[in-house]
Amino acid sequence: MAAPHDDNTSKPSASNFLRSVIERDLEAGTYASRRFAGTPGDAAHQAAGQPDPAKIRTRFPPEPNGYLHIGHAKSIWLNFSLAQEYGGVCHLRFDDTNPEKEEQEYVDGIAEAVHWLGWRWDAGGVEHRYYASNYFEFMYRAAEALIGAGLAYVDEQTPEQMRANRGDFSKPGTDSPFRHRSAEENLARFREMRDGKHPDGAMVLRAKIDMASPNINLRDPALYRIKHAEHHNTGSTWCIYPMYTYAHPIEDALENITHSICTLEFEDQRPFYDWLLERLAGLGLLAQPLPKQYEFARLNLTYVVTSKRKLRQLVEDGHVTGWDDPRMPTLVGLRRRGYTPEALKLFCERSGVSKAGGWIDYSNLDIALRDDLDPKAARAMAVLDPVKLVLTNWDEVIGSGQTVACDAPVHPAQPERGRRTFTLGPSVWIEREDFMATPPKGYHRLTPGAVVRLKYGYVVRCTGHTADADGNVTEVQAELIPDTKSGTPGADSVKTKGVISWVGTHDALQAEVRLYDRLFAVPQPGEGTLADELNPNSKRVVTAYLEPSLRGASPDARFQFERHGYFVADRVDHRDDAPVFNKITGLKEAWAK
Ligand code: ATP
Ligand code: MG
Repeated sequence: MAAPHDDNTSKPSASNFLRSVIERDLEAGTYASRRFAGTPGDAAHQAAGQPDPAKIRTRFPPEPNGYLHIGHAKSIWLNFSLAQEYGGVCHLRFDDTNPEKEEQEYVDGIAEAVHWLGWRWDAGGVEHRYYASNYFEFMYRAAEALIGAGLAYVDEQTPEQMRANRGDFSKPGTDSPFRHRSAEENLARFREMRDGKHPDGAMVLRAKIDMASPNINLRDPALYRIKHAEHHNTGSTWCIYPMYTYAHPIEDALENITHSICTLEFEDQRPFYDWLLERLAGLGLLAQPLPKQYEFARLNLTYVVTSKRKLRQLVEDGHVTGWDDPRMPTLVGLRRRGYTPEALKLFCERSGVSKAGGWIDYSNLDIALRDDLDPKAARAMAVLDPVKLVLTNWDEVIGSGQTVACDAPVHPAQPERGRRTFTLGPSVWIEREDFMATPPKGYHRLTPGAVVRLKYGYVVRCTGHTADADGNVTEVQAELIPDTKSGTPGADSVKTKGVISWVGTHDALQAEVRLYDRLFAVPQPGEGTLADELNPNSKRVVTAYLEPSLRGASPDARFQFERHGYFVADRVDHRDDAPVFNKITGLKEAWAK
């Protein structure tokens, strides 16, 4: 299996209940007798195959109705890393049983996102990329078999009647008047449904289980509904579509899945999952041993919404520029913002797998990002809020028209990565906040009379400033102190309290820098109106001056701008002649918990 990121071969760091389940199954040989014909299929198909070479099979089963988000990254990591660790295979399955909301654009986007995270769905030369809609034929055959066995019936009650007769937690349901029709009659009706003889909503196929079950999901759940709709894969072949709760267990079984991992909302569906698969296996349609469902707590991240519906709303209402807006918690958004697959994986590992839900603070994502980028990112100086500093004695001390070569390590802890070079000249850009005419106590930067080092350059003494009519500083002046160049003998002879970053006006790279912050101002958005919960300062665009070593940076290249944080060349808009950088996150946590 090709793994582009070396660390994908490392084992999940912590133990969790799913690993215990898998280890127990491997030890007991629960799935040792499975056969696999190389493709998904029914009992007869698999029986003709070889012993399954995959010790376990998991799957990541997204519905292609939007772009994946950080919550999906958790599920992807879990399913793919467990399969990898235990000699198994993880399938990428598009759960595309719902005709109306699904599109090819999303199918492509999902595959690309899983790929970007570093996972592959091929094993032994076989692509385990599947579409639930390719199983419609089997699902239909299974439904006819259930009808034949008296385990399913066509119900012609109205949706309102069905709802009323379902009962509730304290009240058992009431049998439908259609529940006791003969198998022949049900079969005839079901075929009429399939043949398009009835309008949407006229009737449904239901499992015949128990209308008095304490688990409402077992009160004759619907299996098929009529929907005269085009499907992105099957076109107009079908006008009846399986319900998710019917389709999903069958998809798992046809693919020889052993451990079907889902989020806790599906816990109450597990009895039906087992009921259905046991019946279909009993009818000889599905191979045994059957898959089992396991639930874990979904990832909830503060300051973020993880629901495709709400994310779509943000896009459609114009609060963001698209699914890939760098403030979006979608994988395309996080990627464009500059988050790395390795950081997301680290975050998933650290957030653990449990049965108890809860919220994870967003800062954990940034901690993982910094842990990943700190050793990787090349350093550079950048001035994001520039004001000009003029060195008034440049011509006497250095010489008119001259510049002075300076250098700095590409990475302070990795001398082998070499040095970056830039030059100091008679004027430089500095951060506006690095000068104050009347500073508070303890201010160690430029103020008239103060002596400060220009990082990697000379020591300067501030002599004054110029301001406009409104009192805004338009220029700062200083004198360069000779023989104080960093790295030269005697450079420390003049003591300074402050060191400031700068970029030469003559060789600076002018760039658009997009300063992103959290999209939402409230820790648990989605409870009220999304629009009211937005952070009004989530995006600020500035014209910045960057160290010339950043010239020619390729899209997606990530840097640490000294003192500012981590930045990435925007993968969409960045050009050599019009550079655009996104702020990923700061050097330290800025948001108090
Ligand atoms: P959404 O509500 O955003 O559409 P979903 O669960 O309906 O999410 P699917 O495409 O059906 O989206 O999900 C694919 C897989 O990802 C499922 O197995 C689902 O359980 C898992 N998943 C989705 N959201 C999360 C989350 N926040 N944490 C962990 N797993 C998740
Ligand atoms: Mg869904």
